[in-house]
Amino acid sequence: MRILVLNCGSSSVKYELMDLAGAGELARGLIERVGMENAVVNHHYISGDSFKDLKLVRNVPTHREGIRILIDLLLDQEHGVIEDIDEIYGIGHRVVHGGEGYTDSAYITEDVKKDIRDCIELAPLHNPHHLAGIEATETLIPDHPQVAVFDTAFHQTMPEKAFMYAFPYDLYKKHGIRKYGFHGTSHKYVSHKAARLLDKDLSELKIISCHLGNGASLCAVSGGRSIDTSMGFTPLSGLIMGTRTGDFDPAVILYLMNKEALSLSEVNTLINRHSGLYGVSGLSRDFREILKDAREGGARSRLALDMFVYRIKHYIGAYTAKMNGLDVLIFTAGIGSNSSELRELVCKDMDFLGIRIDPELNRECAQGVISPPDDPLKVMCIPTNEELLIARETERIIKERTGEE
Ligand code: AMP
Repeated sequence: MRILVLNCGSSSVKYELMDLAGAGELARGLIERVGMENAVVNHHYISGDSFKDLKLVRNVPTHREGIRILIDLLLDQEHGVIEDIDEIYGIGHRVVHGGEGYTDSAYITEDVKKDIRDCIELAPLHNPHHLAGIEATETLIPDHPQVAVFDTAFHQTMPEKAFMYAFPYDLYKKHGIRKYGFHGTSHKYVSHKAARLLDKDLSELKIISCHLGNGASLCAVSGGRSIDTSMGFTPLSGLIMGTRTGDFDPAVILYLMNKEALSLSEVNTLINRHSGLYGVSGLSRDFREILKDAREGGARSRLALDMFVYRIKHYIGAYTAKMNGLDVLIFTAGIGSNSSELRELVCKDMDFLGIRIDPELNRECAQGVISPPDDPLKVMCIPTNEELLIARETERIIKERTGEE
């Protein structure tokens, strides 16, 4: 059962070919600088018992051309991993926004494409490129089923009191102004994985999942369902991120537009690209650089780090209160699963909630429990695997559609 997972971004195509029944990952890669000259293709593929890497520079003017190149690579005699395109059972696409209509992944039809198109206004930086990828795949690999796996779907279980903003109600009806939440695929994957690793029933667990990467969000998962999450109408709100502000008083925007004569697009750039760790530190959006500079005495990096940790603690407290308790706290994504130092800072002075870390387990663990073994509240480090979840969802949805066992 081979599934091709595609994630088409504004100037990139990320891909992974997985064999769900057997070998697992067969190939993955990233095409960067799509739409520009000299796009870079990094292809990582299985060859015998080990993986090999291939780097190419090509002109890739469109997503279609990017997908054509990756298909050629998958079929290539020397660097490929399949002999026939029909070895691919289906294609799963990461789609950031599915609006209110999708509580689950969807078999792609003309209607589903229209719904993704209708959500372009809500995710202008993402949905157009996902759609381009879906349409290109349709023409390049016709008759292969495609599935859309939405980042927003997992959060559609949030109750009204969690997803509504206190604007006049008409604006919700007219423009869909509400919290949608993102990173749903990751939060879903790690919460299921935690239950499996702990050998517990997910329906009985109260979990907080901390997805801490360049983009970052927390999610309260009660009984396997998202009941609240820190990202909102867009992926701007909540935690401080690499270049995004996270929560702040929106009146600042009005004040700055007036004082600095900023246009809408300048404000957009300010809050999404020039803020966060990068804006506060003035150094970098990369957490490793912030950490290193803070250790070496960089005052603004230290401030950025302290603010980042403080905001995470804020949401852990809030979500524990909302769920009336907590069984599992999960750290995932680039920062969450790699930085023992960050996990230690977040969990410091949280023992009143039962959150404690075993320093040795925290330092050494790549996946599993990092709290003292006898503690009832489990703190865990779990690397996310959104591609694997997308592949599994793709298989499930195609089988449901075709009635296959
Ligand atoms: P992601 O968006 O999930 O790929 O995460 C990217 C972020 O993870 C960047 O800020 C990196 O600096 C950070 N990161 C990756 N590896 C490490 C590490 N070993 N320690 C601390 N931060 C890391």
